[in-house]
This record gives sequence, structure tokens and C-alpha cells, in this order.
Amino acid sequence: MKKYYLMAPGPTPVPSNVLLAMAQPMLHHRTPEYEALFLEVRTGLKRLFQTSQDVVPFTSSGTGALEAAVVNTLSVGDTVLVLRAGKFGERWEEICRAYGVTVIPMDAPFGQTVPASAFAEALRRHPEAKAVLMQHSESSTGVLHDVKGIAAVTRTTPVILIVDAVSSLGIADLRMDEWGVDAVVAGSQKGLMLPPGLSFCALSEKAWGHVKVSRLPKYYFDIATERKFVAKNECRFTPAVSIFVGLREVLKMIETEGLPNVFRRHERLARATRSGVEALGLELFAKSGPSPALTAVVAPRGIDSEAVLSTYSTSQNITIAGGQGEMKGRVFRLGHMGYVGDFDVITALAALEQVLQELGYPVDFGAAVRAAQKVLAER
Ligand SMILES: *Cc1c(COP(=O)(O)O)cnc(C)c1O
Repeated sequence: MKKYYLMAPGPTPVPSNVLLAMAQPMLHHRTPEYEALFLEVRTGLKRLFQTSQDVVPFTSSGTGALEAAVVNTLSVGDTVLVLRAGKFGERWEEICRAYGVTVIPMDAPFGQTVPASAFAEALRRHPEAKAVLMQHSESSTGVLHDVKGIAAVTRTTPVILIVDAVSSLGIADLRMDEWGVDAVVAGSQKGLMLPPGLSFCALSEKAWGHVKVSRLPKYYFDIATERKFVAKNECRFTPAVSIFVGLREVLKMIETEGLPNVFRRHERLARATRSGVEALGLELFAKSGPSPALTAVVAPRGIDSEAVLSTYSTSQNITIAGGQGEMKGRVFRLGHMGYVGDFDVITALAALEQVLQELGYPVDFGAAVRAAQKVLAER
């Protein structure tokens, strides 16, 4: 037996109290019990999204809600700006193109970001643009993009800002109402420490205005119709009932810890991870503001990053993630989001030392762990 650890940037470990709650006998979704559960969850989600708007849940992976944000706010022939600095930025582009929406890519080399000033300029050049689409945390590169700065640009215009917060909700501060973000999309299996299967989309008043004139086809992800059910504490179709039950527990846990403390915990664990990785002489992939959700690391020269993750798996029974697309073979990614604490980071780094040593990279045992401990010991 070798104890198993899930340390990928999603899905993430599910706390045992949440697992136990989800193991209760199945509830029916058209009952007063379910409505009471929904009402509780609905209130908690607004606090988590930092919005007064209803958060609309869908039963899908995160990408379903990304698609929902597009099909409900845009029309064929619309032009949008897409922050394209990673695989998830490319996903926004693919969804838009699939629906006949014209994409103007706002590119940065992977590992970097596009500053808010570039969006201000692009919107002057493209007065026809209807929306800006971006990730908050770009999980393929480990970069945290500047939602606040870009929202400051879009909020004074008719353009809506659509943010993929799948790997930042409950991880990095995202003040939907205060910053003027128009659409926030999230999923259950990252910061929310739940199994995959639920996604969420919250829209601002301005974005609901876009919904009224949107002409893209939609049925399952018709958010205006779904919202009418949310108002009655119901889902239009059969929801992932068990994950809703788990969500109630998760929202209680986050409430108890306090959202600002949740953000601080992630920031601190991310800092410890980066410090540990650098102490081994490795390079971080993120060249601009790193995400508190995960750390993307460049594999040492001569070592394929796929070998790093397969050695993590075969020698240590730990799942981490590799590089996606053009980063495959070059990058490996350590997740530290959701149900994670100090010794998860220590475990990941101690295992990294073992893995690299096994792959022939010279390792000063304890160097990564020591560097991380120093960060964790800071007051
Ligand atoms: C995980 C993730 C998604 C959603 O992926 P699914 O597999 O559809 O859940 C979207 N965006 C980002 C930034 C992610 O990290």
C-alpha cells in the first residue's frame, strides 16, 4: 500500500465531512427539503461570488458554464476581445468561434499577461466590441490576470467583462460587484473542493441587459429561463443533487474560515511552493503575477516534464499535472487549491526532491522543504 495524494490543479481533494454529507440517501429535487437546501446554498454562493446577483448553477463541468456565458450574452457576428495567454484563453476563443462570434485575440507569450492599458487601447480601436473574455487564474501557465484593472476599463463602457474564475473562485479575491465584473464563471472541482459536476454563472445587471438581446442558440444553458427556477429555489432540470449537498458543507467551511483568510491561506501556500521550487534551482513558468491556485514549473534542462509527473505517480502515488498544448513536456504543475494546508505543500515538495533525484537531477535533499518551511514560519 502506498498512500494516495491528489495534487493536481483540479479535480482537488474533497474533505471527509463533505464526502460523508454526500453519502446520505438521495434527496428528490422537487421537495421542500431540496428547496431549503437550495435556498441555503443560494445565499452562500452570493457571498462567495461577492455579488448581490443570483448565482445560476448548471450541471456540467466548468466549460459548460463558459459556454453558457457566451451563448447567453452574445450574437452571431458580434466581436469580442479574448485574453489569449494560455490553453484556457484559447478555450474562450474556441467557444466563441464555434458560435460565429468574431474573436480579436489579445496575446501575451504563455506565462505572461496582457495589461489593462492594452484593453483600453484595443477597445478604442474596436468600438464594435461587445465583450472582453479572460481567465482570472490561467491554470495552464499559473498566471493570475488583472481582473480588477481590466474591469476598471470595461465598466465605463457598454462592453461586458466575462471572467473564467473556475480556478480562482474561493482561492483569489474576486470582487464581482465592487470591481464591476459582468460575468463570473466557476466550477465545483477546484477551489470549491467538490467532485466535478457543477458549474456556476453569475451575471451583472449590465450583462442581463445583453441577455435580452442575445441571439445565439441555447437550450440547456438558457440562463434567463434557469434564473426563473433559481428564484423559486429550484433547478430547471435534474441537478447534481449530491454535489449540492456537498456544496452546503463547503460553503459552511468557507464561511467559518472567513473568505479573506481563505485567500490568505492560498497566497501563503503558493508562496511556500514557489520558494521551495526555486530553492532546487528550478524556474517558475509564470513570469508575471503568479496564481495562488497552482504553481507551473519549467522542467530542468534534459528532463521531460512528462517524466516528472509519471515518476510522481509511479514512485510516490501522487497525481500532479503536466503541461498542456505547446507546454507539454516542458512544464509540470502543482495544485494547491481548495482543501490544502501546510503539509500538503511540504509533501509535494519533499516528493519533488525524490522525483528529481530519481530522474538524475542533482538534489540537495531538504532544500525545497527548508525554503517552504521558512515561508510557512513567517508571522
Ligand atoms: C479547470 C478549468 C476550467 C474548466 O474545465 P472543465 O474540465 O470543463 O471543468 C476552465 N477554466 C479554467 C481556468 C480551469 O482551470
